[in-house]
Amino acid sequence: MSTMARKKTFAVIGLGRFGTSVLNELIELDNEVLAIDINDERVNEVSNIASHSIICDTTDEDALVNIGIKNIDHVVVAIGDNVQASILTSLILKELNVEEITVKAQNDYHERVLKKIGITDIIHPEQDMGKRIARRISSRFISDTLELSKKYSLVELKATDKIINKKLIELNLRNKLGINIVALKRNDDILIPEADDYIKENDIIIIVGSNFSIEKFEKYLIS
Ligand code: ATP
Repeated sequence: MSTMARKKTFAVIGLGRFGTSVLNELIELDNEVLAIDINDERVNEVSNIASHSIICDTTDEDALVNIGIKNIDHVVVAIGDNVQASILTSLILKELNVEEITVKAQNDYHERVLKKIGITDIIHPEQDMGKRIARRISSRFISDTLELSKKYSLVELKATDKIINKKLIELNLRNKLGINIVALKRNDDILIPEADDYIKENDIIIIVGSNFSIEKFEKYLIS
């Protein structure tokens, strides 16, 4: 009996800017990806990149079954403007028992309907990117941020004089401010720091904490 794991397969439905970007990255990461769109021009544009590309109206259940969607492990629904098509496609995928489904939501109403039909991985790329950029440009130190939940974030910050040439143990940020330094970026390398390691000039520190703690930490960096 073979114990070799089969490679996970993906499909991207809707080849607008977002869907195409997901497709490109999945391919870059060496995955097998089926690209699907109702529009033949969009399908042609990605035919050289995708592992397979198919013209299909994904609101047609028979058509979806015929292209073998049931053999796909993870389907990304990136139909944007046509909310109705996105909802119907998601419903069919759910009924066909596709294991993992990620859907791009266009608005609140769209998200609510998706939740009702049992979609759990709902994404809002525009809002998320907007928040991320706003946080980066409104802070003197934050160079990137990733929301982990409503309350917690992972943030990259530039080290300031306040913490440069200090040991992590000496800074005691976890106890003092509820901040965990999970990694340091130093000259393009990522280091997982030990308690005895020093923060150096030009380090970018990667921290995890509540948004409240992170705000306090930002103030601490210039205090
Ligand atoms: P983005 O912001 O990602 O660029 P966009 O405006 O380019 O979005 P939309 O036109 O909203 O993207 O939709 C993405 C794609 O979904 C389009 O290429 C469209 O042809 C495709 N699409 C719409 N309805 C269906 C459907 N029923 N079946 C398959 N694909 C569809």
